[in-house]
Amino acid sequence: MPVPLFDLKRKNDEIQEAVENAAIRVLRSGKYILGEELEKFEKASAESVGAKHALGVSSGTDALLLALMALGVGPGDEVVTTPFTFASSCTTAVRLGARPVFCDIDPATFNISPGAVSKAVTKATKAVLPVHLFGLCADVKAVAAAAPGLPVIEDAAQAQGATAAGKAAGSMGAIGCFSFYPTKNLGAYGDSGMVTTSDEGLSARMKLIRVHGDSGGYVYERIGANFRMDPLQAAMMAVKLPLMQKWIETKRKAATLYRKLFEEAGLAGREIVLPTEPKGYTHTYALYVIRAKNRDMLKAHLAKNGIGCNVYYPVPMHLEPALKHLGYREGAFPEAEKACKEVLAVPMFAGITDAEVAEVVSCVKGFYGKRP
Ligand SMILES: *Cc1c(COP(=O)(O)O)cnc(C)c1O
Repeated sequence: MPVPLFDLKRKNDEIQEAVENAAIRVLRSGKYILGEELEKFEKASAESVGAKHALGVSSGTDALLLALMALGVGPGDEVVTTPFTFASSCTTAVRLGARPVFCDIDPATFNISPGAVSKAVTKATKAVLPVHLFGLCADVKAVAAAAPGLPVIEDAAQAQGATAAGKAAGSMGAIGCFSFYPTKNLGAYGDSGMVTTSDEGLSARMKLIRVHGDSGGYVYERIGANFRMDPLQAAMMAVKLPLMQKWIETKRKAATLYRKLFEEAGLAGREIVLPTEPKGYTHTYALYVIRAKNRDMLKAHLAKNGIGCNVYYPVPMHLEPALKHLGYREGAFPEAEKACKEVLAVPMFAGITDAEVAEVVSCVKGFYGKRP
């Protein structure tokens, strides 16, 4: 039985009619930029994150760019972040003329190591940007303590709905950045994203930058851009948002089953290492990422057997050709580099069945040739 890495239709189909009705409402409204539909979604989103303000934006990448712009990041500034992440966590700083300063990761969680952050902070540091990778929150409290007085931008693109010590992703730092890319915890029907903050000044600044810095009547108070989220997406997302936690719960159940079956197969802690959920954290499993011995051969075996899998991420950002000018060498961040060689994401999505999880485990077992 083939098992896809993602099947977005499975849950989306359950709400198809309500989503279509919302879309038709916008199509018939004649209002296609900003407006009430977006404001309604923003209000619900702010409540769900536990932040005072939420602003819908054009993408997760633009959320990060907007956050950095609002904090005044520019040439000569440094942004401390992780090299084990998606490109835009750090390329957004580069676009503003700033320098990403990388820190190694904690091998257990894949998230930025607070100890490394304290060593990376300099007089030029303008912000610290932890990424909540694969759906598990980074230790924002420890990161903030390691960079006293500096604003923390949470890249929560993969962790909407995740919590740490009772606080939701996106509510712990100065600004939270989210992506509604279709495969994320709350996926749109196209591109969009969101920033959250409880700081009135930052909220007002981000709102201004989202519309070219125009305070009205073509008075440009600041340099901005078009970072708006479509009301069409917002109306459809307003249907999905109330269901997000329920959908995450289906992934958490699947993760529990993965653990049980991988342990029963005698693979966990030997050929493979399972994702961890530290005490006090709720993992949302945006991706279910294991470490695997002979990763590339396992990947080929799974693919040959119709099991969807992918490597997030094969190259750490400090070794990417586009960031060569930063001057980092191989060996600079051993844990991030090791993770890139070992990680493999296996099927995980809202509505994945027990039989599908069992199929994946059985295929992994087939590769390593283990008997229970
Ligand atoms: C998806 C993602 C982004 C970018 O979001 P887009 O909506 O695709 O622009 C940024 N950071 C991380 C960690 C992501 O996973």
